[in-house]
Amino acid sequence: MFFSWLQSAQTSSKLKVAKSKQSPVNANVFILAEPDIKNKSLIIEEFATPSQKIELQASKSEILHFQSERGPVWIFTVLPISNSGHLGLLSESDYSKARDFAGILTAQLKSQKFSSLKIQFQSTTEMTELGFLTGLEASLYSFKQLQPEIIKKSLSIEKLGTSEFDSRILKKAMQRAASISLARHLVNLPPNLKTPGQIVSFVKKMKWSTSSRLTDWNQQILKKEKCNLLLAVGQGSDDPPHLLKISYRPKKKSNRRPVAIVGKGITFDTGGLDLKPSSAMRLMKKDMGGAASTLAVAYWVDQSRYEHPVDFYLALAENAVDGKSMRPSDIYTARSGLTVEIDNTDAEGRLVLADALDVAVTDSAKPEIVINLATLTGACRVALGVELAGLFCNDDDLADELTRSGQMAGDPNWRLPLVDRYFASYSSPFADFKNSGESFGGAITAGLFLQKFVKNTKWAHLDMYSWTDRANGIFHSAGGNAQSVQALIHWLEGR
Ligand SMILES: [Zn+2]
Repeated sequence: MFFSWLQSAQTSSKLKVAKSKQSPVNANVFILAEPDIKNKSLIIEEFATPSQKIELQASKSEILHFQSERGPVWIFTVLPISNSGHLGLLSESDYSKARDFAGILTAQLKSQKFSSLKIQFQSTTEMTELGFLTGLEASLYSFKQLQPEIIKKSLSIEKLGTSEFDSRILKKAMQRAASISLARHLVNLPPNLKTPGQIVSFVKKMKWSTSSRLTDWNQQILKKEKCNLLLAVGQGSDDPPHLLKISYRPKKKSNRRPVAIVGKGITFDTGGLDLKPSSAMRLMKKDMGGAASTLAVAYWVDQSRYEHPVDFYLALAENAVDGKSMRPSDIYTARSGLTVEIDNTDAEGRLVLADALDVAVTDSAKPEIVINLATLTGACRVALGVELAGLFCNDDDLADELTRSGQMAGDPNWRLPLVDRYFASYSSPFADFKNSGESFGGAITAGLFLQKFVKNTKWAHLDMYSWTDRANGIFHSAGGNAQSVQALIHWLEGR
């Protein structure tokens, strides 16, 4: 769907890049790990000019970059990672370190003249190689230029001591990068081009294998299914809500019950009648970040021919201002039968998720685990900042697995508690409960609201920002950041 530079890569070490001065300029990249870190000085000896050598040889930096007479050279060193406390759960990983090295490389490559790039790994782990190549491809994504110039340059990838670079890793990196770019692109799209209906057509036009089946619940079906909360959120918009399901069943039968992943897809959030102030509304095209990441994981599951069943649900609606918009004090009956009094029309994400979670947990396939992804609360950002997703979970083992996966994938989350008694502020004299209450502990109470709709299913909720405000790592500009995509891919791969 997006470009692939890795697709064109030569991986046989027998193909030598010409070294004579008359030949086109070649860029050389070395990624070194123990025990080959000592090769750094040999590489400097081979490429650097005498005047560069002294400074380079003395440098302890993990990243060295210089211009040789034959072209630019980068040497990245993956040093052993130090455990920074918190059981190592906030430490970098081989994968994240190498991925972000690649982000630095491509940012610098953009201003370099070269005709071919040769990457050589020395003693690196599989996760380092996967991280670097995923980062290389994913960091080339740009909203404005979907086919960057750089992919016309020739690319070769080698591993010292092997005759051929492992094509399995190359393929995995391409699939991960494509998923990351997909999630970012959907978040970056303007809200006039990604209404609920437009997202449904986009997903239908994507290339899916025969293992994935799409089911679209439009407004009529949603009415029949009594998804009244999802309908209420979307009733102020000209473009009605949809609940889109992507059901993946592997060709080779798996004896596991499916995992279900549910994404909040508010295609634009004005706040509704409880209108947001301008500054808070400005970024609200990203309020479908949960659905974007859910779709990206679905695409990865499909393209990688994942071996277990997974169901994906995109809960899509636009929270708009209109005479038909839901009002504070309206009462709606959720699909599950619980009644909800609208306290604040801007607490709409939990409403669409409530019905979608009910659909997921009551599905005839009886999912073993349900995970929802959502840009849910500002309170979570206040607590954890923008880079850590808040994790709420009713199962300690699942919570551990998800946090560990986030750490390994350099896409972290951090568990927050579900403190039952905080839900008291949601009590309503007119309905089972309200959709918001006191602002203190707002990320927790939002989590408790969702928990009312998951019955006894093992469940995790990731409260995300889905956006990077500035260039950072593999993201070369502000925009969607595919939050939790890599963490969930890592978690699914490990199951
Ligand atoms: Zn809102």
